[in-house]
Amino acid sequence: MEVQLWRNATVLLDIKNIKFLIDPMLGKKSSFGIFPWTQDNRPNPLVDLPFDTKELDNYLASIDAVVVTHLHPDHWDKAAIERLDKNLPIICPIAIAETIANYGFKNVIEVFRNLNFNEVTISLTSGLHGKGEIEEKMGTVNGFMFSSQDEQIYFAGDTVLCEEVINTLKLYKPEIVVVAGGAATFEIGAPVTMSANEIVKICKLFPKTQVVITHLESISPCIENRTTISKIIKREGVHLQCVIPNDGEGIQF
Ligand SMILES: [Zn+2]
Repeated sequence: MEVQLWRNATVLLDIKNIKFLIDPMLGKKSSFGIFPWTQDNRPNPLVDLPFDTKELDNYLASIDAVVVTHLHPDHWDKAAIERLDKNLPIICPIAIAETIANYGFKNVIEVFRNLNFNEVTISLTSGLHGKGEIEEKMGTVNGFMFSSQDEQIYFAGDTVLCEEVINTLKLYKPEIVVVAGGAATFEIGAPVTMSANEIVKICKLFPKTQVVITHLESISPCIENRTTISKIIKREGVHLQCVIPNDGEGIQF
């Protein structure tokens, strides 16, 4: 199995020789502008993809399916709508399927609980995109568990550490969990993605699970960067359990 971080939550997962592109944000640096509910006026994304156009085209030609957790612009953007082949299977929660189909995608596959895609079972999981008022503004988010006969990886999606995530980890006991870090914070309330301290908690609660930390240094609301998180996980002694990939970096499991 290989996990290649492209940027933010956009990851290419290769499992059982099936290539899933997760949460495609494919636009150029600054292409979708500023986020609401923040005084931060930096246009997003903050960085470009780590590939040139030709390399990106080659990657996009190689994928078997796209998986979308929710429709915030750092997970599904205009460039993704324009560049992705309209015949590609787009796997997503029911709540966003119609919107995606309305963009002209002809093969939208809704996941209610489980979906079999060749040798891989994809299960929908729940999360919380923050707590309280900001969670209501952020809306519903999901994650996905990918399971084959001998491998299992959990993409928790844009969620803070909550009962849903803990229960999913307890139930499936995945070897790997990919979490959205950065502690993304708006003017209202607490962070809407995981803080380093929450990641430390996951490591301590589930010492056999490797934690891949994404969603870093790409969008303006994220207040923790790779260096900050590295320091905290090292201080807490869980750094060997964690991987913080750079954009473009592939990790083999
Ligand atoms: Zn996000």
